[in-house]
Amino acid sequence: MRDRTPRRATPLPVMAAVTVLVGSLTACGQEAVGGSRYEPEGGKGATVGLAMPTKSSERWIADGRNMAERFRAAGYRTDLQYGDDKVENQVAQIENMITKGHELLVIAAIDGSSLTSVLARARDAGVRVIAYDRLIMGTEHVDYYASFDNERVGELQGRYIADALQLDRHEDETFTIELFAGSPDDNNTRYFWNGAMKVLRPYLASGQLVVRSGQTEMNQATTLRWDGGKAQQRMDDLVSAHYGATDVDAVLSPYDGISIGVISALKSAGYGTAEQPFPVVTGQDAELASIKSIIAGQQTQTVFKDTRELAEQAVRMGDAVLTGEKPEVNDSSAYDNGKKVVPAYLLDPVSIDKDNVRLLVDEGYHTEEQLR
Ligand code: BGC
Repeated sequence: MRDRTPRRATPLPVMAAVTVLVGSLTACGQEAVGGSRYEPEGGKGATVGLAMPTKSSERWIADGRNMAERFRAAGYRTDLQYGDDKVENQVAQIENMITKGHELLVIAAIDGSSLTSVLARARDAGVRVIAYDRLIMGTEHVDYYASFDNERVGELQGRYIADALQLDRHEDETFTIELFAGSPDDNNTRYFWNGAMKVLRPYLASGQLVVRSGQTEMNQATTLRWDGGKAQQRMDDLVSAHYGATDVDAVLSPYDGISIGVISALKSAGYGTAEQPFPVVTGQDAELASIKSIIAGQQTQTVFKDTRELAEQAVRMGDAVLTGEKPEVNDSSAYDNGKKVVPAYLLDPVSIDKDNVRLLVDEGYHTEEQLR
């Protein structure tokens, strides 16, 4: 990790000129004065590129907006881009940010392993990089990582299922479960899966939990780009192929959009009545549609990750990086991206069900009116 000396604040017009200059230098592939790599000036007034994955989920819209507001309040310019869940869009957006001379990139990757070449360009241009929520894999050029404790997210989902089915109290009873995982190209997916499996595996091994489809490996359960429609299709197939006389008692779902897809499939199959109640269905992100579904007794649980805090954390890290300070981290071992262990700041996720759903209103994450 390069250490940078603290910089004095530079007036905005000067910074603008520097930014344009950096942009043209990097665009022409020229090198820095006195060194092989161009070192942008950094400091207050610098432009921060925010590369977010998609607007199809409410959380990423909030993440982008929150970071842009907070970076601006801290004295930076921002350039917020969404990749529409297409890797080539995100790569082009990041390339463009480097060309324009942005000095820090905060990236929530669409595909964590697809940014190696574009980040090599960022390195050559002296642009610093923070991985946001999702770790960027296979490159040394990621300075810091701001996220939640992702394994803990999975543990909360697994533990919720075990407790809701009262597995420890009814050791002689068996229950059916089907398993869903996130997008295979998102590094978080295996952390969520491993966390959930840490809790569920002993019950699967003892036969107390039965996966009638037999699809117990993560690669059989993944959902490309976290697509709720794909999850709905898979759940339709699972129910029609493996659940006739027997009902499914629980569905491990790693994300609210997937949970909503799963619940639609269950509704079509006749679930949601007194005779055939919905199974326990987990989720993640405390998205509005899912919170309403929890209140309506359909989805059972979600995991609340306060994205306002994550945005705040990323801005604190970014500000430190750009002003030559050392960002605060609370984990220096869990996140190895294959090239380096990326120093991380991890926040705590919270499990939500109908009993504590009010917490989201108390915390101002959703309003009372929104939940009606
Ligand atoms: C995030 C989750 C989100 C999922 C789908 C993951 O990388 O950590 O919060 O549910 O992507 O957008």
